[in-house]
Amino acid sequence: MTVTESRYPEVTVGGFKTISCDRTELAEYMLEDCLVARDQGDSWLPKLVFSSNGQGLALAGKSDEFKKTMDKADIIHADGMPVVFASKFTEAPLPERIPTTDFFHDAAKVAVPNGLRFFMLGATEEQNDLAVKNMQSKYPDIKIVGSHHGYFSEDDDEFVCGLIRQSQADVVWIALGKPRQEAWCVRNRERLRGVGWLKTCGGLYSFLAGDAPRAPQWMQKTGLEWLYRLLDDPKRLAWRYLTTNPHAMYRLVRHTKKSGQSSIA
Ligand code: UDP
Repeated sequence: MTVTESRYPEVTVGGFKTISCDRTELAEYMLEDCLVARDQGDSWLPKLVFSSNGQGLALAGKSDEFKKTMDKADIIHADGMPVVFASKFTEAPLPERIPTTDFFHDAAKVAVPNGLRFFMLGATEEQNDLAVKNMQSKYPDIKIVGSHHGYFSEDDDEFVCGLIRQSQADVVWIALGKPRQEAWCVRNRERLRGVGWLKTCGGLYSFLAGDAPRAPQWMQKTGLEWLYRLLDDPKRLAWRYLTTNPHAMYRLVRHTKKSGQSSIA
């Protein structure tokens, strides 16, 4: 269940209510929400913006708690190409995949001329610093108003949220890995009133820091980016993909609401 009205159609894909819009539209949506949030101040509860990929689909199948956390999202976009393929059977097929790695740049291009402020939370201190530095040189006018590494305990949530509030960030990018990052957003949403979006971003900083290469376009378009990442980092990802990919496929087949279907069995 989404907690707010969405500006674009939403369809159930693999059990997640997924937004049907393209990358540009999502970036405009972010801008619009952040401007309203600035206007409303403390009466605005940050929107929780999560993404759907194989790992998340499989995790939701295994863990009720994670599924419930995902159900609290205001917006879920398709990070994985199989989600886009499965959406073809629904009432509002997704026009494209919105990988967070690309969406960060769409968001930055909208943020710069409109003065939106970003806070970068997560990853190691070194990787976080490098990601921030690289983005500041790529987008000289970008406002990255604060950052913090992702290796802190729940006891430090109040301190980290204090930093975010002081920074007056409009969008907080949260890279703590699944399921920690989604749970962090839900747990700290109240503390962050006035922030426009809490956007989870998984391994984003490793790409922004230049530590992880991106797959070639043809692999991204055909849903094979996972294979490229697997070959690049087999030790870390082999077990994850082996266990999550078949389960994610099952979820996509079983829990996608097809056009004309009244409910999902
Ligand atoms: N991470 C973190 N704190 C933690 C666990 C993970 O900051 O307690 C970071 C980690 O350094 C990495 C990111 O979270 O930068 C997520 O990594 P992952 O590879 O799981 O992302 P995905 O593959 O899901 O995109």
